[in-house]
Amino acid sequence: MPLPVKLARYERIGALTSTIMQVPQLDLKRQDRALREEILDALVRLSGQAAFILGEAVEQFERDFAAYVEAKHCVGVNSGTSALHLALLAAGVSPGDEVITTANTFIATAEVISYTGATPVFVDIDAATANIDPVAVERAISPRTRAIIPVHLYGRPADLDPLLELANRNGLALIEDACQAHGARYRGRRVGALGLAGAFSFYPTKNLSAWGEAGALVTNDDRVAALARSLRTHGERRRYFHDRVGYNYRMEGFQGAVLGTKLRHLPQWTARRIEIAGFYRGKLEEVGVEMLADDSRDECVYHQFAVYVDDRDHVRSELESHGVASAIYYPVALHCQSAYAGLGYGRGSLPAAERACDRVLCLPMFPELTDAEVEYIAHTFVTVAARRPSAFL
Ligand SMILES: *Cc1c(COP(=O)(O)O)cnc(C)c1O
Repeated sequence: MPLPVKLARYERIGALTSTIMQVPQLDLKRQDRALREEILDALVRLSGQAAFILGEAVEQFERDFAAYVEAKHCVGVNSGTSALHLALLAAGVSPGDEVITTANTFIATAEVISYTGATPVFVDIDAATANIDPVAVERAISPRTRAIIPVHLYGRPADLDPLLELANRNGLALIEDACQAHGARYRGRRVGALGLAGAFSFYPTKNLSAWGEAGALVTNDDRVAALARSLRTHGERRRYFHDRVGYNYRMEGFQGAVLGTKLRHLPQWTARRIEIAGFYRGKLEEVGVEMLADDSRDECVYHQFAVYVDDRDHVRSELESHGVASAIYYPVALHCQSAYAGLGYGRGSLPAAERACDRVLCLPMFPELTDAEVEYIAHTFVTVAARRPSAFL
């Protein structure tokens, strides 16, 4: 199968080869090529049954995904954000409460706290993993704290044992934001349902992705699952009997069918991500590039491969000029976002998160990258790095 890699002549610069490859940071178009017919058949079948909202395809996916993440229940919803929101509601988070989370994440992690009327309390990260620092969490616990939301950033499990211990000791709910961590393992166990509940996103850029918006809440708690099922469909217990004010957070039938088909391929996609990350790591270590630490007891599923550089704009444009795209996740820590200026943190209050956001650069990472592309990316980065050692001090 020919890959959409554009080869162009390029004059020799330094140790770089004379051919330049155009490599995207993510190419969604390559993802489903092999599965297209299978997925389209399923969608045609569903449209014949007019099974557009929830229904059999969603139920089958819920059973399969629950088994995959080793959770008792999976509740299919319309986004990862909705799944997080329902998890907080199931934990009883309400106005006046505080919920502790990391400042180094996508804003949805904090928005859902605001939706409940509670206040997000941002804490700093462990610079070695870019994940929430349990010591900082302990310091932030107040009489109003109700829950903790660790995020498995870039697919790397947050350090859950000390967080679960803190949660148990203080009567708090632990809710995992596993939106980037489908199938990751913490000390041998799949992430997602290790606390009260967890949220997954199937946004098109995620490791397991829908053809549109979708998400899931997972839990081992029967009460949480029942409440989430009711709240996702207007607080219904049975049709037109509403126990409480709920939401329209249902998963579409089409998304269930797409996800069910793709889930069977996720283990092999994850293995490829890990292989690519291993290759990057080996090459970049040789020139002393700063990278996040993998814990050999855990399994990171490499939603992103992050490196840290001082002279980021320059490194990024050098990579770009050699055809290698990169991305910045995330350029601004949440406590420095205008949306949360009212909380009064200000720059300098969470230095490790700020430093990470100032220096992070994410290299191309998706399972369909060819070996030649991966080698080209690593070689290009190493060459740029060797030429600008100051970027890595
Ligand atoms: C993608 C993502 C979300 C939100 O998921 P949506 O499906 O886009 O609503 C939440 N948290 C993190 C860390 C994410 O990466």
